[in-house]
Parts: sequence; C-alpha cells; structure tokens
Amino acid sequence: MHQNLTVADHPLIQHKLALLRDNRMPTGEFRQILREISMLLGYEVTRDLETEEVQIETPLERMTARRISGKKLCLVSILRAGNGLLEGMLDLMPSARVAHIGLYRDPKTLVPIEYYFKTPEGMADRLAIVVDPMLATGNSAIAAVDRIKQVGAARIKFVCLLAAPEGVAAFAEAHPEVPLITAALDRELNDHGYILPGLGDAGDRMYGTK
Ligand code: URA
Repeated sequence: MHQNLTVADHPLIQHKLALLRDNRMPTGEFRQILREISMLLGYEVTRDLETEEVQIETPLERMTARRISGKKLCLVSILRAGNGLLEGMLDLMPSARVAHIGLYRDPKTLVPIEYYFKTPEGMADRLAIVVDPMLATGNSAIAAVDRIKQVGAARIKFVCLLAAPEGVAAFAEAHPEVPLITAALDRELNDHGYILPGLGDAGDRMYGTK
C-alpha cells in the first residue's frame, strides 16, 4: 500500500459515492453529486495548508485571526473528466488558479497522449492539486504530474474519486513523494483498463456521452 495514500472515508463521501456508482443515476444528478463530493475531497486535501496570523476588527473588538498564507494554490484538471472534480473544488476555493492538461488514452495501448497544456505562472511557488476522478492504470496521472514538474511544480497532491490498486502502485513508484487522496480504493482493473467495481466511464457518466 502506498504510504502516501489517504482514503477519505467520511460517511458523507461514502454515501454520495454509492449514489454515483449506481448506474441508474441520471447525468444531471451525477454531476451535482460529484460536485458535492469534490468539495468534501477539497476539504480533505487542503487540511494542512499553511496559515498566518492577521489582525482584524470584529464589530466588537480587535483580534488575531488566521488566514491561508502563501501564493494562491493551483488546481490542475486532467481533461475532460478532471473538470468534474474541479467544479466543486472551485466552489470551495474560488480564487484558486487553474491549470488544464488535455490527455486522452490511446484505446489500444492505454498510453496517455497530450493535446493541451496551460498553467498559470509561478507554479514553483504554488501547491498544485491535480484532479482526475479515476486513477486506473495511473498512466495519465503519472504523465500529468511529470508535466507539471517540468514547469517547476514542487509541492503536488493528487485527488481522485476512485483508485485501482494497479494505479496506486504505478503512481507511487513514479511519484513516491506525492500524496494521493481518494474516496475509495477499488478491487482491480478489467482488461480494458476500467476500474472494478468502479462507476464506468466518469467522463461519459458526467456529460451523458455514452
Ligand atoms: N476511466 C474511467 O472513466 N473509468 C474507469 O473505470 C477507468 C478509467
């Protein structure tokens, strides 16, 4: 087991995940529930952000309060399914910066091919939170983290909804220092690289493109 793996087993997350896995869940509700889970995962992944003391005036008196310090963090969405996690995280962190990485899996080799890449400046000074609902083979996640390291990102976390043991192992080998946060660790991959029991194709489920 990857020592940096956190399974966010909060009852609200597990309840919402059970709803998402159910193949009767309509597209619109799937998107809404995914957005809600993203917020909860966003809470989990940001729990160790650094804070600093600031002096403020309440309506009654002066006090020392805490606020998040440092440069704005960057959410990194692996297109297109990553956007399903991105939305809820942006609800929670509206001033976060956003990077997009366009990767698709070659259906035969399952190797990720990059078709889009755009990040804000100053990645070296930002916490980068890479989001993609499904950590299956781990190939896309590994490629995305490789890519943001190339542009200087040094503090990186990876958040997904479901992880397969195969993907966790591959990711841990490639990026052992990057913490992984998932809502569930599923059983295995099938021959087509889908997670079992899983929830199907996350992009198709959220956009109704099946
Ligand atoms: N991507 C998905 O959308 N679903 C899987 O099960 C695996 C990869």
